[in-house]
Amino acid sequence: GRDDKELQGAGLVVDGVTIRFGGIAALDGASLAVRPGGIHALVGPNGSGKTTLLNVITGIYVPDEGRVTLDARELTGNVPWRIARMGVSRTFQTPRLLKELSVRENILLGGYPVEHASTPEVIARLPRARRDAKLLRARADALLSALGLPIDPEAPAGELPHGRQRLVEIARALMAEPGVLLLDEPAAGLSADELESLDHVIRDLSAAGLTVLLVEHHIGWVRSICDSATVLDQGRVVTDGTPEEVFGHARVRETYLGV
Ligand code: ADP
Repeated sequence: GRDDKELQGAGLVVDGVTIRFGGIAALDGASLAVRPGGIHALVGPNGSGKTTLLNVITGIYVPDEGRVTLDARELTGNVPWRIARMGVSRTFQTPRLLKELSVRENILLGGYPVEHASTPEVIARLPRARRDAKLLRARADALLSALGLPIDPEAPAGELPHGRQRLVEIARALMAEPGVLLLDEPAAGLSADELESLDHVIRDLSAAGLTVLLVEHHIGWVRSICDSATVLDQGRVVTDGTPEEVFGHARVRETYLGV
């Protein structure tokens, strides 16, 4: 019925995406779906197309075939800043913080896709812009606190240990109040306390309704946190399903995941 159809369009849907670089298909008819509030793991060997898929979802690459929708709204064909405004935030494999700016300033930078005071209001320092600045600052500090780690908001971002920088990047991505968060290897290089923080933050966000898609090589951790998973190999989906279905198979683990 109609409700089924609406349900099918809910969340993040990647439908038959193909993209070629030269003659080679980095993605070859790849499809996946993440329900609203779901935590979906995207795994597979190096070069299987995981980062390319994140780049297609965020509009950095335009696929040759197929499309991506968020709650039945088509993302494909929009420029990256518009896709960000449509509710898609991401982090990158290597932290991209502005090292000289403070932690707080970096987090605040993530808020620009959200419409608050108009540019003239900001330039003229009109009351609405000043109020917005206070609210945004409070929000940035709240997101930093939510990480549950002692990180000084005034410290230059470049002085933080690598793992802390990765977590601050997530706080920055959340400033935009996204509906979907894409994480590219968030657990890479994290200490034990940082991984615990990451784990808590993702679970809390999911419980609050945020949809999470993560590319991850730390199979033990990702298996424990995801509620669905897709294995890519050479741009194709080789298997998908629940974590038990995907990670419970010795053949899948050996062939594609090297664990
Ligand atoms: P993964 O993230 O799974 O390691 P990638 O998505 O980075 O894999 O890469 C998938 C394939 O697409 C690789 O063969 C890579 O060389 C190719 N590729 C990705 N982006 C480009 C590009 N901009 N130009 C040419 N080839 C690319």
